[in-house]
Amino acid sequence: LSMSLSFPNGQILGLKFDYIILFHNPLLDISSLESSREMEKAEKLPKYAPNPVILQSEDLLKYIMESSVYPREAEPLRELRNATTNHPLGFMAVSGDVGQLMAMLLKLLNAKKTIEVGVFTGYSLLLTALNIPPDGKITAMDIDRKSYEIGLPFIKKAGVEHKIDFIESPALPILDKLLQDPANEGSFDFSFVDADKDNYWNYHEKLLRLVKIGGLLVYDNTLWGGTVALPEEAVPENKRQWRQSSIAFNKAISDDSRVEIAFASIGDGLTICRRVA
Ligand code: SAM
Ligand code: CA
Repeated sequence: LSMSLSFPNGQILGLKFDYIILFHNPLLDISSLESSREMEKAEKLPKYAPNPVILQSEDLLKYIMESSVYPREAEPLRELRNATTNHPLGFMAVSGDVGQLMAMLLKLLNAKKTIEVGVFTGYSLLLTALNIPPDGKITAMDIDRKSYEIGLPFIKKAGVEHKIDFIESPALPILDKLLQDPANEGSFDFSFVDADKDNYWNYHEKLLRLVKIGGLLVYDNTLWGGTVALPEEAVPENKRQWRQSSIAFNKAISDDSRVEIAFASIGDGLTICRRVA
């Protein structure tokens, strides 16, 4: 990198740098999550993104959402999100900024055939349906059909229901069933997993056979509220098991040469894997 500085006296100073220094941004620092009390505070942040977020500044999150996410959010998604806000588990839906990144990935990939594990009321599902072509297909699975039905009217109103095959079931046997048909192997462009963290590695092993080489496998909540970087005793008991699963999953993914990875510290952590083998 080189640059020149001109001074009022007409002198010009040329500078050449061999290194670019990236300043650490304390607003993104999860190490400040030192105690479970602070974690609880972080969890209360999100008027703007009701799911757990890693961004430690409510103002900055509000700025991102209000300047760049909500003004561009598709109307049916906005309606579905509003309908989900009053759900007691409404915090589970992916936030708009994560949705925006997913939409970009789907478009860049020209994704047509996708899998979703963990639908809830369908924010990520509708988002996917809106970002694949008219003849695209999503095989979506969740153990809870009732929540899906909350979002279904908005999916219908958006005219994309025909792209969705919703299966009410635990996901693992459905993935196994898909694998029984050799035509499904390597046939999917994209998968999104946002369900029980204990099974992420099991999903990964199956999805790696279903998603084609060059396709993406995306995993949500891989920072698990920042707990992955905390000592176990600082983590509330009800979060310890999935913290452990998330740490093990992150390590296994990092060691997995079958995928290239991008660990995005957005939302609650989004691990983007590209299948390469
Ligand atoms: N992606 C959704 C969205 O954007 O609204 C949120 C999904 S929510 C965090 C997790 C979902 O995973 C819940 O709806 C839950 O019923 C579902 N789930 C939990 N265990 C599951 C399993 N073994 N198989 C399929 N779905 C499961
Ligand atoms: Ca999630």
